[in-house]
Amino acid sequence: MSSERAASEPGVPRPGMIPLSEPLLDGREREYVLDCLDSGWVSSAGPYVTRLERWARERFSAAGAAAVASGTAALHIALLLAGVRPGDEVILPALTFIAPAYAVRYVGAHPVFLDVEPEYWQLDPSALRSFLRTSCSREGGRLVDRRSGRPVTAVVPVHVLGHPCDMDPIVELAHESGLVVVEDATESLGSLYKGRPAGLLGDIGCLSFNGNKIVTAGGGGLIVTRREELAERAAHLTTQAKDDPVEYVHSELGFNYRLTNLQAAVGLAQVERLDEFVVARRRIAAAYGAALAGVPGIELMPEAPWATSNRWLSAVLVREPEYGQDRRGLMDGLAAEGVQARPLWQPLHRSAAFESVAGGAPWVADRLHAEGLCLPSSATLSSADQARVVSVIRGLRGAARERGRQARDPG
Ligand SMILES: *Cc1c(COP(=O)(O)O)cnc(C)c1O
Repeated sequence: MSSERAASEPGVPRPGMIPLSEPLLDGREREYVLDCLDSGWVSSAGPYVTRLERWARERFSAAGAAAVASGTAALHIALLLAGVRPGDEVILPALTFIAPAYAVRYVGAHPVFLDVEPEYWQLDPSALRSFLRTSCSREGGRLVDRRSGRPVTAVVPVHVLGHPCDMDPIVELAHESGLVVVEDATESLGSLYKGRPAGLLGDIGCLSFNGNKIVTAGGGGLIVTRREELAERAAHLTTQAKDDPVEYVHSELGFNYRLTNLQAAVGLAQVERLDEFVVARRRIAAAYGAALAGVPGIELMPEAPWATSNRWLSAVLVREPEYGQDRRGLMDGLAAEGVQARPLWQPLHRSAAFESVAGGAPWVADRLHAEGLCLPSSATLSSADQARVVSVIRGLRGAARERGRQARDPG
């Protein structure tokens, strides 16, 4: 896309725009990166990689951790560690960024999309229960999807927008059916579920250090595991699966997926400030909640009693009948005033990238997609800028009501 075209798209930030989410890099990032350059440790091994992995083991009480090139790579390798094989099925929520579904295809498996619950927008445990109990049966010790005849081997709950899924019933249902739980915690670093860090509530967890996440390494990811040997296996697979690194002997398919020490240096400086960033983003969400409470048709994404969301992105539902505009109208109106906002992702059961899923009952994911809008949420967002976002949202409702009044009363 040319930069002029990109600049005219309402979802793309222009200079001076209040961005959706931008990194804050004024901690020890520079010091650590210069240390890499001075020491010559710039590539896919080095002290910052080791320190970042140690940080993850401590944070998640994990037996093992492996730093990788991206959150998507983390998901790919995690599915291999989970034993997912070509032709298997893997359960995913219909409402998520597409990367975990791509990862399922990378291992030759097929995603099965289940709906999300309407309250907190996460994978619905009751949809999981009904799929496992009514659409699957046990055949020769494994679970098989009766419609497709394929074995179902894993479930990938995604903590969408940083809000944890209701993991206790999900893990219980998965384990009683013999499924491995690979947690997509790429949006939820710093979030808590019943006081425990979201990320290793299942069997294997995946984190991301992409530039738009709550912390960044420029790019990168991490796999956290409950068994040390799985992290060792991840390190093996992500460094080209070398059986003998001197003689170049390889006995299986490997990947060049390791994180560099340069990236880990930035990532470590960022995670040192994770708790501070969570406080900042939660404060932003609370301020939106308070300031928008009186605006009809606008509702901030709620937080479950058992959840402490990192509020990576503050999202609202835009109800057109009460607000007077749909979420696209609000997004365009914000863009015209220099504010970047973004809708949620196209639900994956609608995506042309995957086999289509039969219709049936209306999907909660479709309604959330139709109504959801993410608002500027950077830790750097000043209260003056946030007040500007709020005043545009209030003003656009006034304008929509005025147009409605004139249409009814043209004289
Ligand atoms: C960002 C993201 C990923 C991928 O992480 P990358 O580091 O960008 O590869 C995976 N899943 C979800 C839900 C994400 O939001």
